[in-house]
Amino acid sequence: MARVLYLGGLGRSGTTLVERLLGELPSVCALGEIVHLWQRDILDNERCGCGARFSVCTFWKRVGQQAFGGWGNVDVARVHALRDVVERTRHIPRLAAAQLSAAQRADVREYADYYARVYAAAAEVSGAAVVIDSSKHSALAHVLRWADDVDLRVVHVVRDARGVAYSWTKTVTRPESDGSDEMTRYSPGRSAMLWNAHNAAFGLLARRGVAVRRIRYEQFLSDPRAALRGLAEYVGVPVTDADLGFLGEGYADLKVGHSAAGNPMRFTIGRLPLRRDDAWVRSLPSGQRRLVGAVCAPMLRAYGYPLNPAALPQEA
Ligand SMILES: [Zn+2]
Repeated sequence: MARVLYLGGLGRSGTTLVERLLGELPSVCALGEIVHLWQRDILDNERCGCGARFSVCTFWKRVGQQAFGGWGNVDVARVHALRDVVERTRHIPRLAAAQLSAAQRADVREYADYYARVYAAAAEVSGAAVVIDSSKHSALAHVLRWADDVDLRVVHVVRDARGVAYSWTKTVTRPESDGSDEMTRYSPGRSAMLWNAHNAAFGLLARRGVAVRRIRYEQFLSDPRAALRGLAEYVGVPVTDADLGFLGEGYADLKVGHSAAGNPMRFTIGRLPLRRDDAWVRSLPSGQRRLVGAVCAPMLRAYGYPLNPAALPQEA
């Protein structure tokens, strides 16, 4: 059974950064956002984190062979059909129930099995004790709860809703599409609603007995070394000082990874500055800041975020 660290949270909360740093630890293999593997990699042959097209990346070729006897044997239309039936945000209340009907259970298990096979094969090919799926979606985490052959440990990354909202207003090009495609943008009101819904869904998952460790993006960056130690312990792969040698004062030195899909940071090789992105404090218009603060106030408070940005710790 593969041990899976599932990185969850609303997009633009820092999950890719957390994944890249965790992926540097021995016995950990970061896979990227597996939820997008079916379309973007198997069908569209986008680029792996190593720079190669998915179909020619040696790592993923071996994983596909091991998991399915080759990626060509995966019925992607079936995966997408199952996804529509089981893995949508609106299905979360049903997935979070104590029991599923026999028919629902069969669909959920069949869908989860595609993921379980990828995880097990990636663990075997890489030799890692833990694989990371940074798919983020709360619905997929709720699906994986029903898988028999996945040892699921969720890390729920939260970031100040106003920082998330500001990030969603910015234009980011997807380099894997060779510049022709941009990442989705949301209005601050929309991302505030999504922030509430997705974060609440991870709280619900924890109440259903799944191992969920919540971390704050801002806290993670204030002491990445301690944060990584804590997470490594949580997934059962304790690390030594030498294992954390890739971390310097305010930066990390990253090796090549094989993230299949996700934020453009998955392509970074070499020195990555570790600096908290607080641009929203200066750049998010005050009306939008107040709107997001009001919509998200109960959970911002619950997570320990001050509602008044003036009370935020200043950057050194
Ligand atoms: Zn690769």
